[in-house]
Amino acid sequence: MSITSYNPADPADLVVAVEAPGAEAVRAAVGRARAAQAGWLAAGAGARSAALGRIAEAVEAHAEELAALIVREVGKPLAEARGEVARTAAIWRYYAQAPYEPSGAVHETAAGPGLLLTRRRPYGVAGLIAPWNFPLAIPSWKAAPALAVGNTAVLKPAPEATACALRLAELTALASLPEDVFTVLPGGAEEGVALVEAADVVSFTGSTGVGRAVVRAATGRGVPVQAELGGLNAALVLPDADVELAAGHIAAAIAGYAGQKCTATSRVIAVGAAYAPLREALVKALATVDDSVCGPVVNEAARERMTGAVSSAVEAGASVLVGGRVPERAGWYVEPTLLADVPDQHPLAREEFFGPVAVLHAAADLDEAIALANDTPHSLATSVHTRSLDAALAAADRLDAGMIRVNAPSSGVDFHLPFGGTKGASHGEREQGRAALEFYTVSRTVSVLPGGGL
Ligand code: NAD
Repeated sequence: MSITSYNPADPADLVVAVEAPGAEAVRAAVGRARAAQAGWLAAGAGARSAALGRIAEAVEAHAEELAALIVREVGKPLAEARGEVARTAAIWRYYAQAPYEPSGAVHETAAGPGLLLTRRRPYGVAGLIAPWNFPLAIPSWKAAPALAVGNTAVLKPAPEATACALRLAELTALASLPEDVFTVLPGGAEEGVALVEAADVVSFTGSTGVGRAVVRAATGRGVPVQAELGGLNAALVLPDADVELAAGHIAAAIAGYAGQKCTATSRVIAVGAAYAPLREALVKALATVDDSVCGPVVNEAARERMTGAVSSAVEAGASVLVGGRVPERAGWYVEPTLLADVPDQHPLAREEFFGPVAVLHAAADLDEAIALANDTPHSLATSVHTRSLDAALAAADRLDAGMIRVNAPSSGVDFHLPFGGTKGASHGEREQGRAALEFYTVSRTVSVLPGGGL
């Protein structure tokens, strides 16, 4: 079987085709990574820090080429692709400092002389499984902290993002990362399953169904696992909000990169008198979104899923406020779409569709809006739009989401802070920031008592 990826804006353009390596090759790569791990750890904080810093430089030196590859392989608009490349370099640079961070603490003994120490140590080989939608940033925010603390890593990218991942591997080699410290092995489900069966610690990002299977397999082996899964993210707009500003943020979170972000907004909840002006402002904002913001969805199946869901919602009584059509052009484009009156139990109101489509709800007050927002098992990011500090504080207290963003799109990420959702949206330790350093290490307690010679 071969692994292929095609340009979503021009499906005749084959970006890459490679032979699927198979499960045995995954086990062999993990074996080589395990053999390399002791040397990588023993090289010391200075060597690891310098290597990660060189990767940041290599990414920066190839920024335009990488951005163009992201555009071509996964259809991300150029401005966002450039932003992702800049963030990728920043992630490597941020974690280049991590090897110098304290790795534990010193405690007093309960009685008598001696030293009690905690010390965080790497697990060995990190198995990293990534989705296609952030083809450089997600592999990097998994690999950089894993490597910083002395693990080696094997990455299995999504098939749709194979060329980007292979290019990242080339850049790490260009940055003189020692052999087998970071391996990229293209593949699909078979290689993913094999990696989960072989790695010492597993980090997965992708869809909820696959993620649950990965968590079961890793925990069945007693291996630590984190999983960042799909979201069904809401935007709450209060009557006191600056409606134009809110509509701009929300339109960007619905349509930016064709809604293909786990933090994209797919439910808009207008409180009381905000409903009518917000509906008007959102329709206007979404109608003017162009390719420089939205772009195509990743493949034909994704487009069919979106258009099928919109038609079935309309059959069930929903009305299309804007969009809803498939543009007549090459590429997997879907118009940014907003619907109202979608029945509560319709899949469009309950499941992640991963496209530029959102549902508008009305809520009588903040309490009802929060209850609506929390009524999902996939709470990753919720945005709240208000000028009232009290309302913002109440929302921050009571929204059951991993990330609460006041007067900002739901779809922003700060790589130096922990990232993840609640309930079904996440499993295990958070990604990014210092939380990632904890995830890729285990604490050892060391007791040092006098040997009796003094
Ligand atoms: P996906 O679940 O189809 O694939 C993710 C990865 O898992 C790919 O590398 C795939 O090849 C691999 N895989 C497939 N079957 C496997 C198996 N049985 N065992 C192990 N690995 C397997 O997801 P996708 O379509 O690539 O990405 C889109 C999804 O990712 C969306 O649901 C989106 O919300 C989610 N996502 C979440 C976050 C987050 O941080 N929460 C970030 C980005 C994307």
